[in-house]
Amino acid sequence: MDSLAAYPLVSAIGWRLVIAGAAVWGAIQLLPSHHIATIALLLIVAFLALADLCVGMTRRTTIQARPATAEDAREADQLRALLDAVATALFVLDARGRIVRCNRAARRMAGAMVSRLEDVAALDPGTISILQALPAGARRLVRARDGRNLLAWCGSFTAPGAAPQRFLSLQWVAGELDAVEIEAWHAMTRVLTHEMMNALAPIVSLTESLTALPDHPPQTARALATIERRATHLLGFVERYRQLGDLPRPVPEVFDLSVLVTDVAQSAMSVLEGTSIRLSLPAKPARITADPELLERALANLLQNAAEAVRGQPSPRITIELTTEKTETILRVRDNGPGVPVDRIDEIFVPFFTTKEGGSGIGLSLSRQIAAAHHATLMAVPSDEGACFELRIPAADGEPSAH
Ligand code: ADP
Repeated sequence: MDSLAAYPLVSAIGWRLVIAGAAVWGAIQLLPSHHIATIALLLIVAFLALADLCVGMTRRTTIQARPATAEDAREADQLRALLDAVATALFVLDARGRIVRCNRAARRMAGAMVSRLEDVAALDPGTISILQALPAGARRLVRARDGRNLLAWCGSFTAPGAAPQRFLSLQWVAGELDAVEIEAWHAMTRVLTHEMMNALAPIVSLTESLTALPDHPPQTARALATIERRATHLLGFVERYRQLGDLPRPVPEVFDLSVLVTDVAQSAMSVLEGTSIRLSLPAKPARITADPELLERALANLLQNAAEAVRGQPSPRITIELTTEKTETILRVRDNGPGVPVDRIDEIFVPFFTTKEGGSGIGLSLSRQIAAAHHATLMAVPSDEGACFELRIPAADGEPSAH
């Protein structure tokens, strides 16, 4: 304790000691005179001064404990800041299921300060009832209102002096799931293409050799020609699917995504010349860190699909939107075609899945793979009209859009 801090303590103790001492001294002086009432009065004064001294000392002890309380408060602030820095949404619920505490990610998910799970903007009623029924210790994959996946985990804890509380952690997992799924598809594609190439290559070369031999009866010549044509076609088909497994690693650079969008849209429009598609492009710049060549491929696929979807519509329209948020840049490609049926939303990203005659079924799976390589997500999200594909690109550290 420094001398300044000691001063109030000495002065607080001092005057009480002086009064108590003076009263006792007075009482001793009066003893021979037998002034019992005055002596008693002086002793009472001395007692009161000493009692007040004790109370003061106790209070002083409490004052001395203050630095520890301030330390506690600082620690609580640090813990709160730490929880706010976590990207997972955390909701603490009381016994009646009311939200009593939440971190910043949870507030963002809720859209505002809310006191009930039912009011969390990102969750629909079906998902909320699943979450409310989750027992402590359970984990479950649920879907948010916008179709994205959330990994929910329910836990419970007891803080000192409080009743046990439940908490829910909700973590966006689309990117991670995509990466796992893509890796599984890769493994399968690698095996299939390898096996098919091994089988097809000798068929093609043997057929070529047989065809080169002279004097085939016409029927054999026709059969050989058919085998060669089919085998060559199959070889080309397998070769195309190889690109799914051969996606180059992204070489990121900082660029304006709105410029890339305009470039890709212009070249798509030159192909679509003669069609009456109305195209709306984003006006505001959006600087991101990504591989522009890979993103161009993904965007071209989305645009081509949108153009094919609006073909035959009375007033075909494609809209590309760009939204820059603190943590990510969101690109949406909307069209007013027939849309994607809800039960097909996951299927359309499966390699080789196509509903088009002559379609390859590679566009969306390749685009999702490009997204995953950037730790981004690509999804078909619910839309009032037609289809809407949403690419969410996370902000890189130090990126201008992230601040
Ligand atoms: P492909 O275009 O060769 O069929 P994709 O992987 O690009 O391959 O698309 C897969 C499927 O997803 C399509 O066949 C179609 O059924 C569906 N799809 C993609 N984009 C759209 C869209 N904008 N509107 C409706 N359906 C779409």
